[in-house]
Amino acid sequence: MSIVKSLVLRMTRDQTQLALETCSSEGASYADIRIVTVKDEDITIKKGNIDVLNLSTIRGFGIRAIANGGWGFAGSYNPEKSEFERVAKLAVKIAKASGSTRKEPVQLADVDVVEDKYETGTKKNPFDVPVEEKLGILQDAEKILAAGGSSIRVSRADFRGHQEDKIFASLEGAYIEQKIVWCGGGISVLATGPGVPPQTRSFPGSFRGDFATKGYEYFESLKIVENAEPTLNEAIALTKAPVCSSGRTTILLDGQQLELQIHESCGHPTELDRVLGTEAAYAGTSFMTPELLGNLKYGSEHVSMTSDCTLEGGLGTYGYDDEGVKARRVELIKDGLFVGYQSSRETAAQLGLDGSSAGMRADSPQRIPLIRMVNINLEPTGWKRDEIIEDTKDGILVSTNRSWSIDDKRLNFQFGTEIAWQIKNGEITGMLRNPTYTGITPEFWGGMDAHSHDDWRLWGTPNCGKGQPAQVMYVGHGCGTARFNNVRVGIVQEGGA
Ligand SMILES: [Zn+2]
Repeated sequence: MSIVKSLVLRMTRDQTQLALETCSSEGASYADIRIVTVKDEDITIKKGNIDVLNLSTIRGFGIRAIANGGWGFAGSYNPEKSEFERVAKLAVKIAKASGSTRKEPVQLADVDVVEDKYETGTKKNPFDVPVEEKLGILQDAEKILAAGGSSIRVSRADFRGHQEDKIFASLEGAYIEQKIVWCGGGISVLATGPGVPPQTRSFPGSFRGDFATKGYEYFESLKIVENAEPTLNEAIALTKAPVCSSGRTTILLDGQQLELQIHESCGHPTELDRVLGTEAAYAGTSFMTPELLGNLKYGSEHVSMTSDCTLEGGLGTYGYDDEGVKARRVELIKDGLFVGYQSSRETAAQLGLDGSSAGMRADSPQRIPLIRMVNINLEPTGWKRDEIIEDTKDGILVSTNRSWSIDDKRLNFQFGTEIAWQIKNGEITGMLRNPTYTGITPEFWGGMDAHSHDDWRLWGTPNCGKGQPAQVMYVGHGCGTARFNNVRVGIVQEGGA
């Protein structure tokens, strides 16, 4: 280790100690501090031009304290010594004030107090790769899309890289250093044709690409240049494809749509802060209330879902959450039964759960950690993707989210996707445009009778919004292709969903 790095680490340790000791002497019964540096790189090529080229770094710290039975939080971007004392005192002052309004004092579930280090495994750090190299790949991919001719209205290619260096220390004695790196990207094209609304096709994933806690080698592995032509061809073909018909049918969701289905109808409603009413922004409560835990038949016997921040490469993968809880796997749905929540130390204690699910995360130093999805996965079953298609007499296979809407209890939903393929007697027979489907969560998952393992993978979505002030979090979803029976499709007017 260089002398400079060891000096910085010693200084950081001194800062955490000063902050925590100040909290303690001000009357805090618990306190923790995160010192975080976040680097982001965001590049978009759109219609032949550089639309976004943004490189940013922020460094700051946030302190949580419990005093008088209540929570306080304060943060700062000023690294001066006196600021750590000032912010620590402020966090305790807020805690005392909020404690005076509480009926019950905050209790925290137990945690193993550790000193540890964690680092995302990368071959090539994305921030070590010259911007010119990334621009070159994006421009090459976008050029192929734009070459589709006058029917192409929008062609774009995106790259995003992210690195977080953070230190967590608590009054309990924890001291955890982490370096979390992720990157990825994708392409998207909007084509028009006579008499049909514009058609979008994206690759891969639904939200400006796919992302993983891996190095630059992950972005390279997506091969967006090689996939530009097939993506363009599908967009043009969609402008000539018949519209998806209405009615009840069997639908297969591939991973690029299934990830969002899991996210909205299992991920959000099993966040315990929503359930307990402390977080209600962004369609924020839940139908999965505590009396239903262990009793609600959420889906068919084939449906098992987990919250797992230990999976290699997942966008929600790390060593410890922002409360210093070690990454772990928690069952949410077991053989169709609702059996678990995503929780924090506080909410786990409230419900008497077996500890926090290790999903407390803040998107920046100056924001308080909230219960956030990590990798929420639909566990694979014995089917292969092609076997599910071959076994389907009449249905549609849909891919890639285009629009979504779900009520605040997370019960009634409606999704639109970019593309569908008709399945007749076990074979794909043609493409359909503007597929949409609706459902009621337990009824919909109750109709799932197959889920593949051979195309099971972790999809990464870096834009989950929650909280006020809003925080944007990066989350993963592991899934393959799943089949759902008796689903209402195609009832939405073209152009709206
Ligand atoms: Zn979300």
